[in-house]
Amino acid sequence: MNVSAPMRLDLDGDALVRNWKALAALSGSAACGAAVKADGYGLGARAVVERLAAAGCRDFFVATWAEAEVLTDIGVSISVLHGVREDDMATATGAQSLRPTLNTPEQVRRWRSAGVGKCDVMVDTGMNRLGVSVEDVAGGLLDGLKVDTLMSHLACADDPGHLLNERQRSAFAGLAGKTDARRMSLANSAGIALGSGYAFDLTRPGLALYGGVPVAALEGRIAQVVTPHAQILQRRSVKAGGTIGYNATFTAPRDMEVAILNIGYADGYFRGFSDTGSAHADGRRLPVLGRVSMDLTAIGLDTAPHLREGDWVAIDFALPAAAAASGMSQYELLTGLGQRYERRWTAGSQSSG
Ligand SMILES: *Cc1c(COP(=O)(O)O)cnc(C)c1O
Repeated sequence: MNVSAPMRLDLDGDALVRNWKALAALSGSAACGAAVKADGYGLGARAVVERLAAAGCRDFFVATWAEAEVLTDIGVSISVLHGVREDDMATATGAQSLRPTLNTPEQVRRWRSAGVGKCDVMVDTGMNRLGVSVEDVAGGLLDGLKVDTLMSHLACADDPGHLLNERQRSAFAGLAGKTDARRMSLANSAGIALGSGYAFDLTRPGLALYGGVPVAALEGRIAQVVTPHAQILQRRSVKAGGTIGYNATFTAPRDMEVAILNIGYADGYFRGFSDTGSAHADGRRLPVLGRVSMDLTAIGLDTAPHLREGDWVAIDFALPAAAAASGMSQYELLTGLGQRYERRWTAGSQSSG
């Protein structure tokens, strides 16, 4: 890109790797993989895979073949969670390092009749989303398949007291030895925090790698990875009684200094941040004033009157707090990050402005 962008994502590569190592340690003797679907939860899948592979991560998960195909040259093992449609078979049978996660008896038949290589299999143990049934597996559906990893997925891992967690764990554990799968895998980020009984042979964190904190047990162990920054496009003085932005939701209680930022809901800085979000510059907190627009957001400069047109501010984006402020989930905040940012990876800790 030759044109410089007026908004950027600072992406802390060290924090990403530290988060993976923390999750790997919590996974005990199980291997720790990485879910990199939806373009690495919005950060950029290639950059994430390269960094985690260098740190020792060996198992990656995407949703679709299009997501997998663009990563094949990195040479890591990738499982495609949505399995194989007929239209995927040419891609699926052509790439050594990719394998499907089969989800339905139809997908199992399709893969078996192609007589091809290794696959993973998803078993539904109570979420009623993707997966073949426990009964089908016990009844021999997978016989003769070369299964690398037998998986299931937890519906309520972010609610540690929920009874479904233990029900799913024990249903899944009951499949041990019933297939010739090389490994078993159940836990996502929050599942890792449920304890060693949930780790099996391989864990599959996504959210927490990227700074998300789905459960209290992970607080203090996960570092922020993503910090959006935006440039000031205009400064203005708003007189007492003046309103700011669409629908005039904010009325200035006194004469105020305001900056208009080059960032908006089209960048994933959602409307939920209207009047609740904030930014920082030079250690000062700058509140969002009024509605977030598609491409623009107003902040108050009362605490930082020295800021000028062209200066940069860091958007407050610690995921648990940003989710609370915006009413969006931590997942939506990450995967909503738009394409207009310059994505700038740093090796060191985050800069603030
Ligand atoms: C997305 C996903 C994960 C990762 O979940 P997080 O909650 O982001 O840690 C793991 N396994 C499967 C099957 C998934 O779809």
